Amino acid sequence: MPTPTIDVAQKLAQMRRDYGVGLARELADLAVWAQQQDSANASVDDWQQIRDRLHKLAGGASTFGYLEIGNSCRASERELDAMLCGRAPVDYASVIARVAALPDLLGDDDPAEAEAAAVTEPQPGVVEAHEPLIYILEDEPETGAQLIRILESFDYRAEMFDDGQMLRAACRRQRPDALILDLHFADASEIGGLAVGEAIQAEMDKPLPLFATEQSSEFAMQLRAVRAGVVGFMAQPLEPVRVAGLLESHMRAHRATPLRVLMVDDDQAMLDYHRLVLESAGFTVKTLSAPEQTLAVMEHFSPDVLVLDVRMPRCSGPELAQMVRYHARWLQMPIMYLSATEDANAQLEAMTKAGDDFLIKPITPNAFVAAVQARARRARELSAALSRDSLTGLLKHADIKERVASAMSQARRRGEPIALVMLDIDFFKRVNDTYGHLVGDEVIRALANLLRRRLRTSDLLGRYGGEEFVVALPGCSEAKAVEIIDELRESFAEFTFNAAGESFTSSFSAGVKVPGENDDLQALIAAADACLYAAKNAGRNRVVGHSAISA
Ligand code: GH3
Ligand code: MG
Ligand code: MG
Repeated sequence: MPTPTIDVAQKLAQMRRDYGVGLARELADLAVWAQQQDSANASVDDWQQIRDRLHKLAGGASTFGYLEIGNSCRASERELDAMLCGRAPVDYASVIARVAALPDLLGDDDPAEAEAAAVTEPQPGVVEAHEPLIYILEDEPETGAQLIRILESFDYRAEMFDDGQMLRAACRRQRPDALILDLHFADASEIGGLAVGEAIQAEMDKPLPLFATEQSSEFAMQLRAVRAGVVGFMAQPLEPVRVAGLLESHMRAHRATPLRVLMVDDDQAMLDYHRLVLESAGFTVKTLSAPEQTLAVMEHFSPDVLVLDVRMPRCSGPELAQMVRYHARWLQMPIMYLSATEDANAQLEAMTKAGDDFLIKPITPNAFVAAVQARARRARELSAALSRDSLTGLLKHADIKERVASAMSQARRRGEPIALVMLDIDFFKRVNDTYGHLVGDEVIRALANLLRRRLRTSDLLGRYGGEEFVVALPGCSEAKAVEIIDELRESFAEFTFNAAGESFTSSFSAGVKVPGENDDLQALIAAADACLYAAKNAGRNRVVGHSAISA
């Protein structure tokens, strides 16, 4: 197992020490209290408070590696619960004895050891945005060169290898983002492309997405490909658009922003600890120890997942979850409980009210990260599927307009420019009429992929209508935006599409406008549209900025 990064390990060690100091104080305090009890003199209220303190310790102590203390507190909590609910005869003696003995357990636990066993390097939740690196294994120089050209036109970095050993060595030096294998590949070692992929995969600490340039119809071969980690096949002859589309659909995570998690727990030490675990795995985390603020914080933070403690003073996790579910906006968001409650009935009740998962403290960092990540990713996928156009994966009409409107007000507040671009494919009806609707779809998807790959993550991009797109470039002047879009126009005009045994090219026209002082969204769109219209009238395949037509 890989060791945690120094920084995280040090921070965890510090947290554990801090927790240990507070823990010793709390245990001593409880022990003194217990020694003062002869079973009669505490009220039910007092016992409820003690139960809550023990509950908190059961979760906290075990998470920080004080397992004996955690178990003892949990046992007392369970016993007290049963007595307080009338499920067991009231006899506090054994609880008192156990609580009084808690400080003695401090010496028995070795949290450092427990912690070292529990912590492994968390898996990254997101990868920083960079041009993805793709290695190609190919013995046909022609095919390899063609693939490299295609990949580079979509802003991938690509390197070709005609030797399995050299590819393996390169993967050891630098892990690529994906591998494209020629299944009929043969070099001096003659072990075949898939076998090279398997050998490389065996050396990776996490699986590498593999693509193959040939689909085998044999079940056994397909099964072997699945097991080797092949996620997609590129049909021959290689079509730039299809290749890019395939890569794009498997590597979208590269351009995703970090997953956001909001945690609510009354125990600050728990929050700090789990925050560190999630942050070191690449999540953006907000924590709250006061449940009252949850909805207000969610409004701004817009979490992908909510992680709630179950037992909190003033408002329980399940109660909070139900309040969240009152709001239509949060109906889709996963709610996970992270609690020291082992009681199956309490878990069932919590899940029945609202909630999607029940995690038990202590949970290893890896298990916690994996559980949250799975929920958060799925939620992102779902909401993307709802607001995104199925042909292109871009934002739909209403959603892109909403985003552009909010980007406009943000730009205005900051006193920065923002450029709006309306973009429309030229003579698109002809493509449909000549080659059919499916080929037309492919052209639309090609343009969408090009825009997605080439624009910055901070830019907004949507499918406005059939073959019309909207792009908003925050921080861009009109001149800068015209320059950027014109480069894209040139790239797109160079694509060749193949259909019905012919090849053809396509192009687009675009209009660019930066909002004037009083422009609202509608006015801005209309002005950019007027520029687009001017570009069409001037002969198409060009980009027109507003200043060019108003001069
Ligand atoms: P211009 O250069 O003036 O823009 O000419 P054009 O032919 O592109 O313009 P027009 O807007 O008249 O035609 C657009 C066509 O796009 C009409 C419609 O059938 C087609 N279309 C709209 N949505 C889709 C789609 O999702 N897929 C396909 N294949 N065609 C679509
Ligand atoms: Mg058109
Ligand atoms: Mg049109």
